[in-house]
Amino acid sequence: MRKATIFVVALAVVALAVTGITPVAATAAPKYLTIGTGGVTGVYYPTGGAIARIVNKKRDVYNMRLTVESTGGSVFNINAIMQGDLEFGVVQSDRQYQAFNGSPDSEWAGKPQKNLRALFAVHPESITLLAAVDAGINSVMDLKGKRVNIGNPGSGQRQNSIDVLTALGIDYEKDIQAESLKAAEAPGMLQDGRLDAFFYTVGHPSGAFKEATSGVREVKFIEIKLPDSFYKKFSYYAPSVVPVLGNYPGAANKSDVASFGVKATFVTSSKVKDKYVYGVVKEIFENFDELKSLHPAYSVLTKENMLEGLSAPLHPGAEKYYKEAGMMK
Ligand code: GLU
Repeated sequence: MRKATIFVVALAVVALAVTGITPVAATAAPKYLTIGTGGVTGVYYPTGGAIARIVNKKRDVYNMRLTVESTGGSVFNINAIMQGDLEFGVVQSDRQYQAFNGSPDSEWAGKPQKNLRALFAVHPESITLLAAVDAGINSVMDLKGKRVNIGNPGSGQRQNSIDVLTALGIDYEKDIQAESLKAAEAPGMLQDGRLDAFFYTVGHPSGAFKEATSGVREVKFIEIKLPDSFYKKFSYYAPSVVPVLGNYPGAANKSDVASFGVKATFVTSSKVKDKYVYGVVKEIFENFDELKSLHPAYSVLTKENMLEGLSAPLHPGAEKYYKEAGMMK
């Protein structure tokens, strides 16, 4: 044997003796798995960060390392996961439902995403409408003729905005000047006078609404009231409240405003290995208190409600943990 080879073998023997782990496993490169989130001023991006922070503490146990990517949002994330470009993603519960079922009026009409799998739900999100006070907008109907951001095509909110407008008889292609900007761009454009209002489906508080309510142009949150028939038609929507007070002191509102909402959920593909999904779910649930401390939008989370709002089947790696923890039979 050459000297160098003898040295490597000797090192391996020492490593085995010290750690009890075979050197191959100890030194194998960790598997990098990427989480798709949303814009940097939303809540998905810090949510991906919170999950990665907790799970990566055990990177050596699972031999995986989570990384976080800012993306265009829910629709982008689902499609990228299905194509194998991302392993995990934060997505709206309504989008999860539509993608798995190939819902008629969605991006996945006739193309059910049968490999989509759920892990857990996270914070609630409200369809949130903010308008400039000087634009004279006091209701959704007042958006007619105005310049309104309904959301970029990869976002979850775009279809939510269209659903509200359509339900109230507003044709988004004709009756308003609809913009397709990313959520991170809208606050600056509203403050600059290049937008009259924007929709964003997001948890609260969010950086986007902090920014939009901190400028010199006076802005206010607009109530979104919908008839019962709306909730009958779209089973994945439920009435909600935008918690304005305490979160956005710069807004002109004197009370919280009614709207409707969905949930942020965490998803993957059936092609991602059970051991990785199991590791993510186990670390999140076993460090639940730490998770809750990482963002004010998580204050309402319970271990029980983190299993609500999932419409795609649970990934087997997630189910294994829930059964082990007695959370599921
Ligand atoms: N709900 C938005 C979407 O699905 C993202 C919100 C966020 O980034 O917090 O595109």
